[in-house]
Amino acid sequence: MPIIVSVPKETVPGEQRVALVPELVPRLTEAGLEVAVQSGAGELAGFFDDGYAAKGARLEAEVFDKADILLKVQPPTIVEISHMKEDSVLICFLQPYTNATAIRALAARQITAFSMELMPRITRAQPMDALSAMSTVAGYKAVLVAASRLPRFFPLLMTAAGTVTPARVFVIGAGVAGLQAIGTAKRLGAVVEAYDTRPAVKEQVESLGAKFAELGLAAKDAEDKSGYAKAQSEDFYQKQQEMMSKYVASADVVIPTALVPGQRAPILITEEMVRGMRPGSVILDLAAEQGGNCALTEPGREIVRHGVVIIGPMNLPSTIPFQASEMYARTVTNYLAHLLKDGRPYLDLEDELTRGPLVTHRGEVVHEIVKARLCSENSTP
Ligand code: NAD
Repeated sequence: MPIIVSVPKETVPGEQRVALVPELVPRLTEAGLEVAVQSGAGELAGFFDDGYAAKGARLEAEVFDKADILLKVQPPTIVEISHMKEDSVLICFLQPYTNATAIRALAARQITAFSMELMPRITRAQPMDALSAMSTVAGYKAVLVAASRLPRFFPLLMTAAGTVTPARVFVIGAGVAGLQAIGTAKRLGAVVEAYDTRPAVKEQVESLGAKFAELGLAAKDAEDKSGYAKAQSEDFYQKQQEMMSKYVASADVVIPTALVPGQRAPILITEEMVRGMRPGSVILDLAAEQGGNCALTEPGREIVRHGVVIIGPMNLPSTIPFQASEMYARTVTNYLAHLLKDGRPYLDLEDELTRGPLVTHRGEVVHEIVKARLCSENSTP
């Protein structure tokens, strides 16, 4: 029997992406898989049923119960998990640190679940790095949203009606999303400054034509071996807030993107700092999904406090669904191709690329950090 790989329509409100695009169907059928796509799965992203069918996929009303391999964007709900086949394989963004109920349900149903967030940061894994792909989309869109809310131009304009000075943009955290935001803001003509705790970033910021904010702070062990930032002490964050105050106050737009994997985002902009900003300024908090870098951010909402617009978007990649789906689908199919041997999933648990994103397998939660989180939750009274 050939292995069936299925793609459902996403059900999380506001989610417009789809985990597979028609162009990639032949890649899977040529590997010996049958592809079943739920009717309408790609519609919101601009990929229609006839496009999938033309590339060799089967369109079905329901796909969960027959899938040997399920490709998704968002984690499945408990009801969806209850419809999945036992011993099937799931690849999606699983939100592994905050999604205990679903992870337990996946283990109980003997599902082999891979979390795209946990892809190791090694050269071999770059074509499978879904987080970086989505951060690129988010960083770009963040600037467009902020620019549209700002009551000013971004570029310098010299017109007969007068000279317009350029907007000032301050980006906090210059990882994948931050660097994309810097590049986009520069292309729109803003004057851009940026800061990151990882000193290696300074050169990348400058190569995009932005200025690196020298705060005179030395972060301890700024990054881990994967290139992610390490958490700093409360004392460090307090000093960082003090040193950043003048950059925040002089900016028209602040785009904080600072994340520490597996933890709540650090608070880097206090209410006092918001009070120091000019009315009409905009904070677009790209860390909102992890609680936000601004103390006033309300995840999922746009609010005005002390005259400053504070936006806490929850799923920016979904607002550019066509290319976000293409990019995500490429990373997922690259990962699936890695997991296949002779047209069937084959798990070499010695391989860190297979083991790294693996969360549940043979009825157990096998990812050490995720397991430790679940255990500590169990022991909390
Ligand atoms: P991220 O989304 O986890 O964090 C965003 C940024 O916030 C990071 O640059 C981090 O240093 C910064 N940050 C954390 N705390 C901060 C603070 N207090 N103040 C200011 N900034 C703070 O990170 P990311 O964008 O996913 O990636 C980080 C780095 O890893 C990048 O340099 C990227 O190039 C690298 N990377 C490597 C690979 C690979 O080798 N396969 C893949 C992806 C990314």
